[in-house]
Amino acid sequence: MRAVYSPRFDINFFGLEKLHPFDAKKYSRAWALVPELHKDALTVTEPVSNADLLRVHSEAYLASLRHAHNLARALELPIIGGLPVKLTELAVLNPMRFGVAATILAARTAVAERERVFSLSGGYHHAKPDQGEGFCVFNDIAVAIAVLRAEGLTGEIASIDLDAHMGNGVAHCFLDDRSVWLFDMFNAYRYPYSDAVARMRLDWPIPLQDGTAGPLYLNLLQTNLPEFLETVASMGEIALAIYNAGTDPFENDALGGLRLTEPEMLERDLFVLRTLHDLNLPTIVLPSGGYSDASHRLIARTLLAVAGEATL
Ligand SMILES: [Zn+2]
Repeated sequence: MRAVYSPRFDINFFGLEKLHPFDAKKYSRAWALVPELHKDALTVTEPVSNADLLRVHSEAYLASLRHAHNLARALELPIIGGLPVKLTELAVLNPMRFGVAATILAARTAVAERERVFSLSGGYHHAKPDQGEGFCVFNDIAVAIAVLRAEGLTGEIASIDLDAHMGNGVAHCFLDDRSVWLFDMFNAYRYPYSDAVARMRLDWPIPLQDGTAGPLYLNLLQTNLPEFLETVASMGEIALAIYNAGTDPFENDALGGLRLTEPEMLERDLFVLRTLHDLNLPTIVLPSGGYSDASHRLIARTLLAVAGEATL
């Protein structure tokens, strides 16, 4: 198991994070809880290039981010719209570019070493080719896939999205590319429930009732995930699995609307990772969304459990 971390992941909202459920420092807070992993960590020294972002995002969209009010809309933080562009560029966009670079590095390493690689940033699954939304500006998952494809990666890609919200941005990025298979368990009554185009694109949607508790959630996961992976493998070799491990199904989360306890969150992660490990699949794990003060701890618990378990 490998981890990718950079102190550049943290986003600086200039104290405005108090107005927002997004824990902009969860990356470094999680990393501080896993000192055992620091020695062998991978890191990124450069943000993702514009050329790589353009593999997924339109030129017009990337140019629009120079206007702070467009960025403010994607981040649902209107007050950012009043900040100087130089400041949002440095404090908000650049950390996100480092996050994309980390997902690319994680995916490259996972494929090259047939490994499980955790990035401490990434999983911005709501960003669409020409629109940012739901706190997501760049779709790191789609960019990483596009970069690896350009480097010659063939085969099927299995995306397993267990963030509480539907990964609509990823669906929009791969509307016409069915080699990327989308398994998505999400609260059907929360944002982006009205995105019918994305909902239709999902290969294996598991819409959940608001308030779904751990036992039902885990049962649905355990019965569906192996079948999904079997289906994908029957279409061709799986070259990469992407586990979008959002921590917002946690019961105390401000935005997820699901009710998994802390032990159930760990059980969820370990089930997914054991299943992928048994199939010997190169895997990346991304933290994605999480809007409780426990998010960083939940991420760290999974990292430590995987690092300490010989069967993973
Ligand atoms: Zn979410």
